[in-house]
Amino acid sequence: MGQITLKEVRIEHETKRGGENKRTHHKMYIFIENETLLENLNNRNIRPFKMYREEVVPMVMEHLKRYEPSTYKLVKESKWSWSKHCGCSMCPCSPGFISDIKDHENHRTLFVTIK
Ligand SMILES: [Zn+2]
Repeated sequence: MGQITLKEVRIEHETKRGGENKRTHHKMYIFIENETLLENLNNRNIRPFKMYREEVVPMVMEHLKRYEPSTYKLVKESKWSWSKHCGCSMCPCSPGFISDIKDHENHRTLFVTIK
């Protein structure tokens, strides 16, 4: 992969999903621009997550700091770890980064598209 650029950071604000007292981590999913569904299915378990953590996550944080200060405030202290079960505890269909920070009221799901 050559130079990586951020194409889009979409933020979902979720509140109190799964009941009043359920705490949920912030999550971040990485998508590749123009990847087909079939390519995504084939590639989702071989993502270069180390490179994502070193290069993409800092770019996302910079983006949030500049354009999404309220979300940045919530997630800025996060340590992001890659999880095969980020979005689904049953199977590795939705790998992504999980923040070590749980937020009771406001958790964010970040859908990041890179090129
Ligand atoms: Zn699944």
